[in-house]
Amino acid sequence: MTELDKTQRALSPRTNLVHAGTWRSQHGEMSEALFLTQGFVYDTAAAAEARFLGEDPGFIYARYGNPTVRMFEERMMALEGAEDAFATASGMAAVNAALFCQLKAGDHVIAAKALFGSCLYILETLLPRFGVEVTLVEGTDPDAWRAGLRPNTRVAFLESPSNPTLELIDVAEVAQIVHSVGARLVIDNVFATPMFQRPLELGADVVLYSATKHIDGQGRCLGGVVLGTEEFIRGPFEGYMRHTGGAMSPFNAWVMLKGLETLDLRCRAQAATAAHLADMLAAHPRVKRVLYPGRADHPQHELAKRQMSSGGTMIAFEIEGGQEAAFAVQDALEIIKISNNLGDSKSIITHPSTTTHQRLSEEQRLGLGISRGLIRLSCGLEDPEDLAADLDQALRRA
Ligand SMILES: *Cc1c(COP(=O)(O)O)cnc(C)c1O
Repeated sequence: MTELDKTQRALSPRTNLVHAGTWRSQHGEMSEALFLTQGFVYDTAAAAEARFLGEDPGFIYARYGNPTVRMFEERMMALEGAEDAFATASGMAAVNAALFCQLKAGDHVIAAKALFGSCLYILETLLPRFGVEVTLVEGTDPDAWRAGLRPNTRVAFLESPSNPTLELIDVAEVAQIVHSVGARLVIDNVFATPMFQRPLELGADVVLYSATKHIDGQGRCLGGVVLGTEEFIRGPFEGYMRHTGGAMSPFNAWVMLKGLETLDLRCRAQAATAAHLADMLAAHPRVKRVLYPGRADHPQHELAKRQMSSGGTMIAFEIEGGQEAAFAVQDALEIIKISNNLGDSKSIITHPSTTTHQRLSEEQRLGLGISRGLIRLSCGLEDPEDLAADLDQALRRA
């Protein structure tokens, strides 16, 4: 088995998604082997010692690494243009480790306040318990980032586009601001997908994914991945992961590798459907407002054009009649399913204020633009005309 070929980094993403990081055993199998093993055999006691000393680069234990998991990490590295990567058991294991591995009591974290609910829990509830100070800022306002910085700011964290309101943050500008105090910028790039936004090229230091979403893409397995410099991944990150146990299972890595082969095709088809449905919803008499970065009426459309290569696969829209109407629309849908995953090949509708963001106070929700009439739609691979007809009949009936 070989290390990732340097030339793979230079190939186009579509080629890398199919080939990068493939290791072949002595059998020459065509598709990626599933190494469903926790441990690895050493030829001699001295070989075991060398492995543990780090003098021999082989595998030790699946909590530290596994050949199938490494194939997934290397394919993600080639795709993202990152020096190294570490796969995790879920997206939240990735967020947790990316933050905790580099923080200690007395450090300060700055983050955008429009975040995935569980990310907010780590920032607002867990980190302060361990003496880490956290400031949440209006992510779209560069002056708020500047004003929130402190000499002890170690980490900046953001999501763009955000969940569920699809608010964008200027990654390049925030990177420049937070680097002025030596902080690392960590980006949760789930909503943008690796196909449509490249945070490391925009100046971020660390990028992470919930692979549960578009990377699996068919709603089967939980997973996550963190990418960055070799110094960060093999330094604080690997140390934290080895001893806290958030490793990705080899089976899930095998499913994720299969998902990556079609990631580009799926994301492009789903984004084309999203653009089509966003236009259809914006013209619908029952819809008050549509939030889609690819539409000219998105408040940050210019930034979207600069920073992303597509409007993405997610839409948020607001209807008249608050929660009652939002529930009625969801209940009337026939093809689109009520669920809370996203990036799936099946289209999914979510009511953030009563599900994913239920834990927040009404005041916090309204501050984030999450009204009772706001609905989030993850566009799948179905025929866009079938989806448009389903949404239209549900909006009319509700
Ligand atoms: C889903 C999600 C996560 C968490 O990922 P899991 O795989 O569910 O743990 C984190 N951030 C964002 C933006 C997400 O959508």
